[in-house]
Amino acid sequence: MNKEIKKAAEIIRSCHSMIALTGAGISVESGIPDFRSSGGLWEKYDPAIYASIESFMRNPEMVWEMLFDMTELTTNAKPNSAHVSLAQLEEKGYLKSIITQNIDNLHQAAGSRNVIEYHGNGSRLQCMKCGESYDISGFDLSTRVPPSCEGCGSILKPAIVFFGEMIPHQAMNESELLAREADVVLVVGTSAIVYPAAGIPQLAKYNGATLIEFNLEPTQLTSYMTDVFVQGSAGVTLPALLKQL
Ligand code: NAD
Ligand code: ZN
Repeated sequence: MNKEIKKAAEIIRSCHSMIALTGAGISVESGIPDFRSSGGLWEKYDPAIYASIESFMRNPEMVWEMLFDMTELTTNAKPNSAHVSLAQLEEKGYLKSIITQNIDNLHQAAGSRNVIEYHGNGSRLQCMKCGESYDISGFDLSTRVPPSCEGCGSILKPAIVFFGEMIPHQAMNESELLAREADVVLVVGTSAIVYPAAGIPQLAKYNGATLIEFNLEPTQLTSYMTDVFVQGSAGVTLPALLKQL
C-alpha cells in the first residue's frame, strides 16, 4: 500500500485538473452501508426493488419504509477521515471538484465546496405532482408516516435519483465537462457498475487522464483502466495520501 500511495502522491503533485468520483464505500466508515455490505439496511431492503422509481410510483408507502431507515442513518452520520481528506485536498488546491454518487451530504459536511450531486441529495424532499421542494428537517419521520405536500397533499419523494430516473441535467453536463478536462481522477469507494456514473472515469481516461483508485477490493475498472490501485479502507488510505503531499 505504501508504495502505491507514494506513486499516487507523485502524480498528484504535478496535476492541473484533478477530480474525484466517490461512491457509497467512502461513507461506510460513517456507518452508512454500501450496496455490497452484508447485514444492515440493504439485506432488509433489496435496492433493486426499493430504490426503483417504478416501485415508488406503484407503492410509495412501501418504499418509504426503506426511506425512514435510510434517512435515520444519513441524518445522524458524520463525515469520516476520507471525506475530510478530500476536503483538505480541495483546500490545498489539488482537487478541483468531487462528483459523488452519494446522497448523504457528507462531503459538504466535511467542508468540500465543489460537490456535484450526481444522484441528488436525501436532505430535500420534493412533490412529484406540483414540484414544491421541502427541507427534510421540517418533518418528523419518526412517526413513520410518509410526508405529504402542504400544497396539494401528494406523497413527497426525497430529491434522490432512483433507479430508472434521469440524472439531473446540470450534474450530468458539468461532470462530463470535468471528466473531459481532468488529468487525474481519484475513484473512491465505488464498484463502478452503476451507469452513467461509472462512465465518468472511463471518459476521463479516454481523454488522457490518469486513474487512481481507492477501494477495499479490485473493481471492474482495476485491471483494465486503473493506473494506480490503492487497496484498503478509504478512511486510512486517503489521510495517508494527504500526509505525503
Ligand atoms: P457500491 O455499493 O456498488 O460499491 C461500494 C464500493 O465501495 C465497493 O467496491 C466496495 O468494495 C467499496 N468499499 C466499501 N467500503 C470501503 C471503504 N471503507 N473504503 C474504500 N472502499 C470501500 O456503491 P456505488 O458504486 O456508490 O453504487 C451504489 C449506488 O448506491 C450509488 O449510486 C449510490 O448513489 C447509492 N448509495 C449511496 C449511499 C450513500 O449515499 N452513502 C449508500 C448506499 C448506496
Ligand atoms: Zn404538491
